[in-house]
Amino acid sequence: MAYKITDKCIGCGACAASCPVSCISQGDSKYVIDKDTCIGCGTCAAVCPVGAPTLTNSES
Ligand code: SF4
Ligand code: SF4
Repeated sequence: MAYKITDKCIGCGACAASCPVSCISQGDSKYVIDKDTCIGCGTCAAVCPVGAPTLTNSES
């Protein structure tokens, strides 16, 4: 179980600063989550001002 960041991201960086496993980094047009490192804690979704991080059930 991992989170992904949707196109709603405005690049504020709040999620990257609060992720306990530091698996969020700045991408080309938005922040991106390393799904293999993400532990699915939901902190990024809780701190994001625009609700960009969403839960994905995809294991691939
Ligand atoms: Fe980091 Fe938790 Fe968000 Fe995964 S769900 S990217 S571990 S803050
Ligand atoms: Fe993007 Fe939300 Fe993370 Fe800010 S907290 S960088 S808007 S996903």
